[in-house]
Amino acid sequence: MCGIVGYVGEQSALDVVISGLRRLEYRGYDSAGVALVTADGLATDKRAGKLINLEESLDRTPLPAATAGMGHTRWATHGGPTDRNAHPHVDCTGKLAVIHNGIIENFSKLRLGLETNGHDFSSETDTESVAHLLEDAYASSGGNLAQAMRDVCKQLVGAFTLVAVHSDSPDCVVGARRNSPLVVGRGVGENFLASDVS
Ligand code: GLU
Repeated sequence: MCGIVGYVGEQSALDVVISGLRRLEYRGYDSAGVALVTADGLATDKRAGKLINLEESLDRTPLPAATAGMGHTRWATHGGPTDRNAHPHVDCTGKLAVIHNGIIENFSKLRLGLETNGHDFSSETDTESVAHLLEDAYASSGGNLAQAMRDVCKQLVGAFTLVAVHSDSPDCVVGARRNSPLVVGRGVGENFLASDVS
């Protein structure tokens, strides 16, 4: 289990998330990624290797400004440490992204059902099933990301911390956890989520 940072506020979400991920580097990881909720929709980047690889990629191709977003450092358990398997994982609409620490033990069964129902997968991770489950739950909850997360958690077996964003819910970063840490930092005009107090 590695690093998770989520942010909503008035600062640059990317700056907060990258500096948060740097503080979590001591845990060890094999890839890193970010998702931002921008005025033009969801923007993501993710890279295998150290955080510097992601930062160099962001320097080459900057993402639009955003005040809500999340970042992840991954320690691969399902699928090798590649760009594709790095988090965040995005749903079929390209509007929803999720990051995850832990293991979804029933992911094979979930994936089979989702693929049968027409969802396209692009990674080998256990995590990507959660993105597609959230896609369906977001639609059936009438666009309520928190309710979608509650509904999806009931279908998951395992220990996890999950954080998700949706570009149609711009000021909202949703987190959930089971037997895995998630710290909530409440500020004035800004709030934080992280997998670790540091
Ligand atoms: N099981 C997930 C994966 O392999 C998350 C690993 C982690 O906790 O970083 O992508």
